[in-house]
Amino acid sequence: MEFYSLINCMDGRVQLPVIRYLQDRLDVKFVDVITEAGPNLILAEQRDTTLLDSIFSRISISIENHGSEGIAVVGHHDCAGNPAPKEMQISHIRQAVGFLRRHYPEMEIIGLWVDDNWKVNEVV
Ligand SMILES: [Zn+2]
Repeated sequence: MEFYSLINCMDGRVQLPVIRYLQDRLDVKFVDVITEAGPNLILAEQRDTTLLDSIFSRISISIENHGSEGIAVVGHHDCAGNPAPKEMQISHIRQAVGFLRRHYPEMEIIGLWVDDNWKVNEVV
């Protein structure tokens, strides 16, 4: 795959682990990164329409201009934007993936959890 879209947390600790995971596991060449604080919560709750519109407009650029073939959404340990415990955050990731799948039925959508060792785990 040439391009993949990543909706990651803004937290500096999760940038390289997730990009490397996508490059190594999915053989992605380039990762387009969209960052928010606690994106799994934003996409699970779907409350802040300004933020959602901003995320969607950036995903559209990645898909339309780069031909991105998939979207990954992330939740992680010790997140300032989403301080919920692990099990609840994983539930947020599942809801976020469901929401993105309804918006982009043609795309491959995956959910990733970055654990307390900064290891990336595919949960959806
Ligand atoms: Zn975070």
